[in-house]
Amino acid sequence: MTKIVILGAAESGVGAAVLAKVKGFEVFVSDNGNIKPDYKETLSKWDIPFEEGGHTPGKVLDAHEVVKSPGIPSSAPLVKELSAKGIPIISEIEFASRYDSAKKICITGSNGKTTTTSLIYYLLQQAGLNVGLGGNIGQSYAYQVATTHHDYYVLEISSFQLDNCYEFRPDIAIITNITPDHLDRYDYKMENYVRSKFRITRNLRPEDCFIFDSDDEITINHLDQIVLQCKKLPFTQMGEVEQGAFLSGDKMVVRYEDTESDFYLEELALGGKHNIYNSMAAALAAKASGIDNEVIRNSFRTFQPIEHRLEPVLSVGGVLYINDSKATNVDSAWYALECQKKPVVWIVGGKDKGNDYSPLLELVKEKVKGIVCLGVDNRKIHECFEPIVGESSITDALSAQEAVTKAQAMAVDGDVVLLSPCCASFDLFTSYEDRGEKFKEAVRAL
Ligand code: ADP
Repeated sequence: MTKIVILGAAESGVGAAVLAKVKGFEVFVSDNGNIKPDYKETLSKWDIPFEEGGHTPGKVLDAHEVVKSPGIPSSAPLVKELSAKGIPIISEIEFASRYDSAKKICITGSNGKTTTTSLIYYLLQQAGLNVGLGGNIGQSYAYQVATTHHDYYVLEISSFQLDNCYEFRPDIAIITNITPDHLDRYDYKMENYVRSKFRITRNLRPEDCFIFDSDDEITINHLDQIVLQCKKLPFTQMGEVEQGAFLSGDKMVVRYEDTESDFYLEELALGGKHNIYNSMAAALAAKASGIDNEVIRNSFRTFQPIEHRLEPVLSVGGVLYINDSKATNVDSAWYALECQKKPVVWIVGGKDKGNDYSPLLELVKEKVKGIVCLGVDNRKIHECFEPIVGESSITDALSAQEAVTKAQAMAVDGDVVLLSPCCASFDLFTSYEDRGEKFKEAVRAL
């Protein structure tokens, strides 16, 4: 009997295990750390053997194929050993797609994945299609393939998932943009990271679509070097395109095949220049899926902002508090600052992933009146921004509550307090969600 070993028993691993079981394979799940009780329960319910707190080589190295969690780097000793033995290592997405004939809209990129994925999912739902949402969001794709039927999937896919995809083919592939991120997993080589993102396009056929940001130099430069057979649909805020999406006055124009549609920017529920890009990508995916303009228009109007992404929390004393805890890199914080119309007290900091803050200098000069550094080591932020805002307008905090109190002291009626940290959260919080929750609690307590 063919044996499938699953490395890593979180959402994607457990989903892959259930699917392997349903498909009649011998399955074994191995996790180096502790498996969460809920996942253990699922594995037991499906009668799937597992181990935790370490890998037993004898139970792993006899696999015919391994499904690896995206969290485990290819440099992990066990993964190297598996590769040396020639055992194929695939991702959950690759595995699940073998058993799924639904149409797939798949989104990758450095920023805007979750927003664009959620918006497209919403659009397809509003159009009355039988659609599943998966990848890095919610229930794993593999679990859904094992237990339900959908005609469409909208999948958010990280570069780590793509690294172990080979035959996987979306019907519509989207790269939102590419900016430096996670370079530690790519030998600190940008070209490796770019290539990894572009793996989403490798199996596209002439009838499939590739949707991309043609204002993004990194994307365009790479696209120039490869040959793609599919329909190419760029979106841009800097000119006009024959096929794709662009701006014309106060409208977004979408050209797909022989149709031209337009949507008022004013009607987009999501604010900010970055969300115009995300909405353009979503509109193109919707048009390519045959969705009516009226449905697209209504969906744009009624879509709700997602938690931790420029999420308005509360106005206190005329000061609006915004939670953008998911802004974990410079580019996403750039867009958050760019769309602010009022003076900003900016809460920034955390675990710096080798940030170059220079792209933010102009925006900080123009919009930021005060800074609260929320991190263990804030030296770099002080160095970069203290000369701009002045020594008396930059301070430090070691908890969300302290940051909110200090920001409140700096803000006056009509200002905005923006948590858009530019950094990962792991120095003071367990995750970006934890950071955002604690920020919101502190705001509600003011
Ligand atoms: P991802 O899933 O790729 O991390 P999200 O949609 O969760 O992206 O957004 C992450 C952060 O990036 C948020 O702070 C958001 O405001 C910002 N952002 C969203 N879309 C874009 C975009 N197209 N370009 C740059 N930043 C963006």
